[in-house]
Amino acid sequence: MRFALAVHGGAGAWRLGVDGKLIEKTIEGALLRGSEAMRSGSCVDAVVEAIAFLEDSGILNAGTGSTLDYLGNVSMDAGIMAGGKAGAVAIVSYPKNPIRLARIVMERTPHVLLAGPQADELARRVGLERHPGPSERALARWRALRELPESEWVRARVEAAKALGYDTVGAAALGPDGCLAAGASTGGVSLKLPGRIGDSPIPGAGFYANEAVAVSATGIGETIILSMSSLRVANAYLQLGDLAEALRRVVAEHTARWGPNTLGLIAVSRRGEVGGEHNAEGMPWGYMKEGEIRVFGLPG
Ligand code: ASP
Repeated sequence: MRFALAVHGGAGAWRLGVDGKLIEKTIEGALLRGSEAMRSGSCVDAVVEAIAFLEDSGILNAGTGSTLDYLGNVSMDAGIMAGGKAGAVAIVSYPKNPIRLARIVMERTPHVLLAGPQADELARRVGLERHPGPSERALARWRALRELPESEWVRARVEAAKALGYDTVGAAALGPDGCLAAGASTGGVSLKLPGRIGDSPIPGAGFYANEAVAVSATGIGETIILSMSSLRVANAYLQLGDLAEALRRVVAEHTARWGPNTLGLIAVSRRGEVGGEHNAEGMPWGYMKEGEIRVFGLPG
């Protein structure tokens, strides 16, 4: 069976004393879960199950491990695209797995993006599992950040987010029938203002899939929205016909415009190419294709 699946655990500075081995195991677990889902389902199942696995890990900034907003609340974004359709949710706190709600928006509503309490209400109505609330890790991170004086916090928030790492999650898949799907899920950048929406629920920015390529992005959401980074990869791939070259070009242009520690990308193509590229200190990611599994951990 010909398929390819790539997942990532976020681009960033990774200075928080994270357990690199545990992150590698988590990436591998997501690949196994996603490929198992693909075997009995589709490229969409692969992306949703791989991302749900990462959301449930509690050690990454998505689902139960989500970073908190400035007021200490969970506020998550997620999105998925496949077969010319997309579904996304923003500023949600009810679902344990926002990626499952994004899929429901894509498959069961006429809309692309739902936000806030009404999106949470949909999660409740369709019976999605409830988020358990902020994790100990997220609360500890939030308490440390709240020690910054407010004036400094507002000025420094993008720099602080870069320094802290952002460990959002994402996946891109090619199914044996040629279907391509991409998705992303996040608690957002550390220190975000309540109500802030990042790139992860924006098609073309945090994720994108067409009939040639599927892409998922991570990094500073504001820069990714302004660059439409995932769509840019699809366009570069169309032009260059080489996935690795397309990813390198998009990251290089992004770095020239926005500086380092701003972007990470993974992608799979219809031809079965798989790639990952970033300008951060680290981006744990991995892929599985034709029985081969590879995991790229954190530096050092
Ligand atoms: N892109 C995400 C956001 O800005 C953060 C991340 O990639 O970790 O919300």
